[in-house]
Amino acid sequence: MATEEVHDIVIIGGGISGLALSLGLYRKGIKSLVLERSKVLRSEGAAIGVYGNGWQALDQLKVGDDLRNCSIPLTGIHYEYLTKDDKNVNRYRKELRCLRRKDLIETLARYLPAEQIRFGCHVASLGFDHRENLHVLNTHDGATIKAKVLIGCEGLHSMVAKTLQLSPPKFFPAWITRGFTTYPEGHHFGNHFFRFETGKAVYGRIPIDDKNVHFFVNIFNEPTGDISDPEVVREYTMEQLKESPSEILESVRICDMETLSMRQAAYRYPWALYHQRFRKGTMTVAGDAMHIMGPFIGQGGAAALEDAVVLTRCLSNVINAPANASSDKKWAEMVREAIDLYVKERMPRLLKLSWQSYFVGILNCNKSWLMKLVANFLLRLFFGGNSLNHALFDCGTI
Ligand SMILES: Cc1cc2nc3c(=O)[nH]c(=O)nc-3n(C[C@H](O)[C@H](O)[C@H](O)COP(=O)(O)OP(=O)(O)OC[C@H]3O[C@@H](n4cnc5c(N)ncnc54)[C@H](O)[C@@H]3O)c2cc1C
Repeated sequence: MATEEVHDIVIIGGGISGLALSLGLYRKGIKSLVLERSKVLRSEGAAIGVYGNGWQALDQLKVGDDLRNCSIPLTGIHYEYLTKDDKNVNRYRKELRCLRRKDLIETLARYLPAEQIRFGCHVASLGFDHRENLHVLNTHDGATIKAKVLIGCEGLHSMVAKTLQLSPPKFFPAWITRGFTTYPEGHHFGNHFFRFETGKAVYGRIPIDDKNVHFFVNIFNEPTGDISDPEVVREYTMEQLKESPSEILESVRICDMETLSMRQAAYRYPWALYHQRFRKGTMTVAGDAMHIMGPFIGQGGAAALEDAVVLTRCLSNVINAPANASSDKKWAEMVREAIDLYVKERMPRLLKLSWQSYFVGILNCNKSWLMKLVANFLLRLFFGGNSLNHALFDCGTI
């Protein structure tokens, strides 16, 4: 039988952004309901590198120290190339660690009351009840959930982003393999992020701890075969890396097949951010739903954490102010203002990250030397080339 319920704040998507936002609100004494279509917490994508800006946000959510126990600190990025003898080191003066997605997601969820996350709840359509001023969510299993405030944190194919008419995502001609490799006797890769460019592919290796490393391979030739099959992914990835040193090939060959996946790199045009509206009534977006960007500067997840901190701050200033309980209409108006503040605060930051990852994407993937030259020039001019300055950002307190 169909059921109907009403909540103050509903968040669609129990990924990094949805859980971080729900936890931020919870830390400020505000209840929300996260709807996640998977039956369990999703951890596809193996791991992510988290720089100082991400750690600052995790500390605000009071999960930083738990997560530090799951990973070792890294000193920066070491670059090597197949085609030239050059070796570069990019030292990073703040905290850099690699986190298993599973650890990150489970830790964010652990501090939330169980009833605040509803698994196996796939939102199928959205509407609005003008009489009651409520968002109406219909789920695949026939339930109807109503919400005063709706936040879309459901990633690349966000329904809320579509409702807001955000421009549809595009794809770089880049396919990214990700996985873990365990070295039971310990690895000897030190405590830095290592990148190796072959011309055809970029291999990255980030130690998580003394025995486990996360690797990714950016591949610029369209794969053939079924990339949902890990065997196909491994074979194709090794083929693309075949001229690389043996320890690189070995890390892919002996990887944990359950963690191996391949995905095409998605993004939104950075210039689309200038003229889009990220709020409609009391509905907005966060995380990839708001600003999907190529993974080339490793900032999508950290930017989602920053969103959570800023949106928590803006919403809690309104929701926790006693004078604002006076009427539903007044409350909704204050929430709309809070969302506008959130969007206004996030825009300069998201523009910078989106442009930078777009230029790096062109540098990596575009076949035209002219485009690469222009992208390189603009990267140097506006972002200091390979600089990690974008990862020194501080998004403030919740
Ligand atoms: C190859 C690659 C490497 C990356 N490396 C890094 C890195 O090193 N550092 C970094 O910071 N970031 C990195 N990122 C980016 C990062 O993974 C994303 O930005 C981050 O996962 C976004 O989180 P999210 O919660 O917004 O979206 P998602 O992780 O996509 O979560 C969305 C959630 O919503 C759920 N959902 C979707 N639709 C519905 C629905 N209709 N109803 C209910 N639930 C729904 C999904 O099941 C999912 O759990 C990388 C990305 C890629 C692709």
